[in-house]
Amino acid sequence: MTSPDAPDVPGLAALHARLPSPVREVVDGRFERRGVRLLLKRDDLIHPELIGNKWRKLAPNLAAAAGRTVVTFGGAYSNHLRATAAAGRLLGIPTVGVIRGDELAGRPLNPSLARCAADGMRLHFVDRATYRRKSEPRALAGILRAADAEEAYVVPEGGSNAEAVRGCRALGAELRDRADVVAVACGTGGTLAGLAAGLAPGQRALGVPVLKGGFLTAETEALQRQAFGGPRGTWSLDDRFHFGGYARVPDELDAFAADFERRHGLPVERLYVAKLLYGLIALAGEGAFPCGTTVAAVVTGRPFP
Ligand SMILES: *Cc1c(COP(=O)(O)O)cnc(C)c1O
Repeated sequence: MTSPDAPDVPGLAALHARLPSPVREVVDGRFERRGVRLLLKRDDLIHPELIGNKWRKLAPNLAAAAGRTVVTFGGAYSNHLRATAAAGRLLGIPTVGVIRGDELAGRPLNPSLARCAADGMRLHFVDRATYRRKSEPRALAGILRAADAEEAYVVPEGGSNAEAVRGCRALGAELRDRADVVAVACGTGGTLAGLAAGLAPGQRALGVPVLKGGFLTAETEALQRQAFGGPRGTWSLDDRFHFGGYARVPDELDAFAADFERRHGLPVERLYVAKLLYGLIALAGEGAFPCGTTVAAVVTGRPFP
């Protein structure tokens, strides 16, 4: 039997994904003094290799791929590429990664791409101009031809399409009646779009974009339209905590994350999770959460390597 929340992929059940993922309360004075409870939704513990929201987004796509080669896109440090490569190895599905930047071809692979290659992902490097046009049908067809992957199942950059967004509803559903506010760091907005749709009425989702640009409201709305035909749930974004943009980790943020790790024994992934936690503490300090609020922070991943 196939359902969006339990996709039928041969070998999937044998991976023993830890779902629902655990929820743990942490006591932190910066919330406590405001009368706010903080829960950590540990999606980083779903699977040792298929971590967090990447797993929730990939699983329904692997079902849709039905055994075909999976081709997807990313930069040289993409968490999504690593998750796709790991899924390919664990499930015996061939994968192709289209990598932004042909200047990387022929050079020693960085640790992230080396992991992808070791997991059996075939890497295909394209120049940045071509990469930018990959959502245009003609450009995409050209890339797939050059990568010898014309019959492949295409998952977009970052893994967010309608299947992925529907897969993330379960994250919201697992937190029904557990929290008033559920907060998540956002790249494409796909996880937020699905999470918001899965929450109960009266709960709200809060997204913290890690990219600069302020385009994510429109993108998240578009993803909800693709996945559900229209808006779902109550959600908003707070654009103040990107620290200069994607993969920017200034010393202040790094020190904050190291301190959070010491206090709570949680490995804090720097590109997304650190910005989320920093934002939540800033919001608590501003009095943005009324006394008595329970906030759940989704720990979407863990540090690499
Ligand atoms: C990819 C990723 C995100 C962002 O997910 P989107 O659905 O693209 O918004 C958040 N956290 C971590 C750790 C990620 O790897």
